Amino acid sequence: MIKTDAIIIGAGPTGLFAVHQLGIIGLKCEVIDNLDRAGGQCIELYPDKPIYDIPGIPECTGEDLTNGLLNQIKPFKTNFHLGQRVEEIKKENNFWIVKTNNGNLFSAPNIIIAGGVGSFEPRKLSLKEAEKFEGKQIFYSVTNKNLFKNKKISIFGGGDSALDWALELSKSNEITLIHRRNDFRGAAHTLSEIKKKEKEGKISIKTPYNLKSILGDKAMSEIEIEHEDSKVEKIKTDYVLSFFGLIMKLGPIVNWGLNINNKTIPVDTENFQTNKEGIFAIGDICTYPGKLKLILSGFHEGALAARACFKRARPNETYRFEFTTASKSIHDRLGLKK
Ligand code: FAD
Repeated sequence: MIKTDAIIIGAGPTGLFAVHQLGIIGLKCEVIDNLDRAGGQCIELYPDKPIYDIPGIPECTGEDLTNGLLNQIKPFKTNFHLGQRVEEIKKENNFWIVKTNNGNLFSAPNIIIAGGVGSFEPRKLSLKEAEKFEGKQIFYSVTNKNLFKNKKISIFGGGDSALDWALELSKSNEITLIHRRNDFRGAAHTLSEIKKKEKEGKISIKTPYNLKSILGDKAMSEIEIEHEDSKVEKIKTDYVLSFFGLIMKLGPIVNWGLNINNKTIPVDTENFQTNKEGIFAIGDICTYPGKLKLILSGFHEGALAARACFKRARPNETYRFEFTTASKSIHDRLGLKK
């Protein structure tokens, strides 16, 4: 069981800035996110898109903003638990116990839900028989590319993830890249690299094809793909990687006994507390009269929630407001010389 002052659910921009706001007032936190990297919507949905409404930064991309937020919280040496979805929350005395889908347990007087529009989950293959091979020979993300060394890999999808992994894994594998349309959506320069690899015989491109069936009983040995003109082809395959994008689901948050209004959590704007004492909600997931689903609103909400967390984590101390520039203790926490 990991004990801390606050558990942050969601490593989007709001959750990342909440780490900072907790850190400067001397509180520790642990951050959990379902995705395998921090950044939430900024990194998953628009890493290259410019953002023009972050105060003091005339223009940055989703990726720049994420990197900036991660740099800003470096002094606090916060633990991130990525690739884990928070499933259950329960109360024991004055502490909240949080359990993730892989069985990790956390305990804290405070939880900050910065869950955005819910957990991002991969859109899975629609074939029923795919289920039994998932996590063994069928994957929706790559966490350990060594698993795929010197293997026959069929990659499905037409976006950046499919193209990037086809190119990367073609260094040591036989790749078949399969897409249901003739045109790919991914970056043009990656596609031209892939076309070069096709000429060298390292990648075989199959369009417009769909997955028709998976052959093999205990282990998958081959797949059948079907052309839009109904022609069927068999491909020897050790692994299938499928990149059909992400879907957003509110997920387990609905089961935690919180008031939910139109897929968002109503909060008290004094401290962003939900209907449960010690559980706060900030960013896109929270709602209140006048709520704007903007990153800057999430920053403000995190600042107030952090101060409320202080009262529960340090009941015998008085929180004293200080500007970051004037405070010796904040300078120490940030590792700055005064
Ligand atoms: P998110 O960024 O959604 O992050 C939430 C995180 O919580 C996710 O990583 C998710 O995996 C995780 N999570 C959820 N449930 C669980 C669970 N049970 N267990 C573990 N993890 C969980 N805003 C602006 O201010 N300016 C812009 O220019 C702008 N442009 C945008 C462009 C697009 C295309 C989109 C889609 C949005 C844009 N926005 C913009 C909105 C902005 O991205 C959101 O307001 C912001 O991302 C909200 O941040 P968040 O941290 O609340 O949530």
